Amino acid sequence: MREADYVVVGAGSAGCAVAARLAEIPGATVVLLEAGGRARNPWLHIPIGYAKTMYHPTLSWNLKTAGEPELHGRQVNWPRGRVLGGSSAINGLIYIRGQAADYDHWRQLGCTGWSFEDVLPYFRAAEDNERGEDALHGQGGPLAVSDMRDRNPISAAFIEAGQQLGFAYNDDFNGPEQEGVGWFQVTARNGLRCSSATAYLKPARPNLTVLPNAPARRLIIEGGRCVGVEYADGQVVRARREVVLSGGAIHSPQLLMLSGIGDGAHLQAMGIETRHHLPGVGRNLQDHFQARMVFRANAPVTFNDVANSLWGKLRTGMEFALKRTGPLTFSAGTAGLFARVMPQSATPDVQFHFIPFSADGPGKGLHKFSGFTMSVCQLRPESRGTITLASPDPTAQAHIQANYLSEKFDRDCMVAGLHLTRKLAATPALARWIAAEHLPGPAAQGDAGMLEHARAQGTTIFHPSGTCRMGDVVDERLRLRGIEGLRVADASIMPTVVSGNTNAACIMIGEKCAAMMREDAQQRMAA
Ligand SMILES: Cc1cc2nc3c(=O)[nH]c(=O)nc-3n(C[C@H](O)[C@H](O)[C@H](O)COP(=O)(O)OP(=O)(O)OC[C@H]3O[C@@H](n4cnc5c(N)ncnc54)[C@H](O)[C@@H]3O)c2cc1C
Repeated sequence: MREADYVVVGAGSAGCAVAARLAEIPGATVVLLEAGGRARNPWLHIPIGYAKTMYHPTLSWNLKTAGEPELHGRQVNWPRGRVLGGSSAINGLIYIRGQAADYDHWRQLGCTGWSFEDVLPYFRAAEDNERGEDALHGQGGPLAVSDMRDRNPISAAFIEAGQQLGFAYNDDFNGPEQEGVGWFQVTARNGLRCSSATAYLKPARPNLTVLPNAPARRLIIEGGRCVGVEYADGQVVRARREVVLSGGAIHSPQLLMLSGIGDGAHLQAMGIETRHHLPGVGRNLQDHFQARMVFRANAPVTFNDVANSLWGKLRTGMEFALKRTGPLTFSAGTAGLFARVMPQSATPDVQFHFIPFSADGPGKGLHKFSGFTMSVCQLRPESRGTITLASPDPTAQAHIQANYLSEKFDRDCMVAGLHLTRKLAATPALARWIAAEHLPGPAAQGDAGMLEHARAQGTTIFHPSGTCRMGDVVDERLRLRGIEGLRVADASIMPTVVSGNTNAACIMIGEKCAAMMREDAQQRMAA
């Protein structure tokens, strides 16, 4: 049996940050359990490799939602990282923190210590921005943040299109204003992905034991306190001080329920003894839903043209090998637009990802024709879903019901976002590159046509959150309500999903969790 001061479950965006920062406490020992293996596949390090890894049979969990009632009963693929680095190892690399108003809203909901002013130091502490340090950005932190290394003409045309519609050019979506159009920054250094594992687990530390291929099966609760974790085939690691659950928005609530923490009636139905009745576990599921429009280009200006020719592939490979530039450095969107499409919104309510290539879906093979994609997602959905157990078997997938588009506001916002996509395509800057709209195509017209496109084709943009909501399942210091010695730190604690991509926020949550644990430990020592 192993023993450590702290045991962290899940080496993802948040978990790596928690474990590494806890290991900075003098004299502390930390064990980090990860279900997946080490990041040996080279595509995990090449930015565009996410297209190869997101549905990889071992690097991704390859989850699926249940049939979605508002999407004609379709099941939606939910890839999640299953490797050191978690989803930050297979994600689209886009570095966005969300809006200051998101965190101020958390504060308003009662989450003391989580206003933007409160969380900013943790974003800055995590960050190593190649642009340097200022009031909003950090330099010298573990997480590399850099500018797009390939500023291709078709992505530049998208930025011009946004400006032609009156949106301001925004040089920094994580600056004072999120609204506007511009290039994304990415979590990469010298053209290579910087996952949370790259950022926080290198170099190795003697007091931090990282155990890959060690899936946690159950939390060990004794006398109302979490004292350790059972993992793999019956092995045990005991925690002298605390256990932190960082399995992500699906696996954290799943592991709590498997351990008897959740809605008593549901646990009973699954044949699991209730250790602590906490009905909020697995509720409040939120995700960003995206609908994409694909356009055929009238000239070979897209990555499809490069990837579909042997010479193009060779040239791209050489360029990346020699200079770390070119299409292999693409993130899941080169340029972006944050806009307000609903009259009641005070801040941007949709985000566009401009993608200089096209496929039938994220991670699918590229089209044979020259094509590019504009994806729009709603930033603050009102629809709520659930994670429940499908079985008491810890190796079985949880039951995921996202309930996309179940609220009218979400449907209206998506429809408005899709109308704006067509307006962008019609600007002189983009229209000059477009031969035809491929998806949904000219037959889709009006609000009804746009909604039907979203229902038929829309999918996740991979940001599930909220299933161990702060204020309900955990308190504002991320301590699980009703059980001692147990915290949760990952996307699941977000009371509301942030308005943007979620990796940076998860890393911030990990940083802040470790800082609070350190403070609490110091206070206990002083008492
Ligand atoms: C394909 C894809 C593209 C994305 N693109 C972007 C993007 O461009 N920008 C952005 O900001 N965000 C993006 N995201 C979202 C972002 O990466 C996630 O929100 C974030 O990584 C979630 O962090 P987390 O710590 O909550 O969970 P994760 O990073 O998913 O970490 C959870 C970890 O826990 C492990 N685990 C789970 N269960 C167990 C268990 N029982 N025992 C041990 N280990 C366990 C998992 O294997 C995993 O390593 C994307 C996500 C995906 C999947």
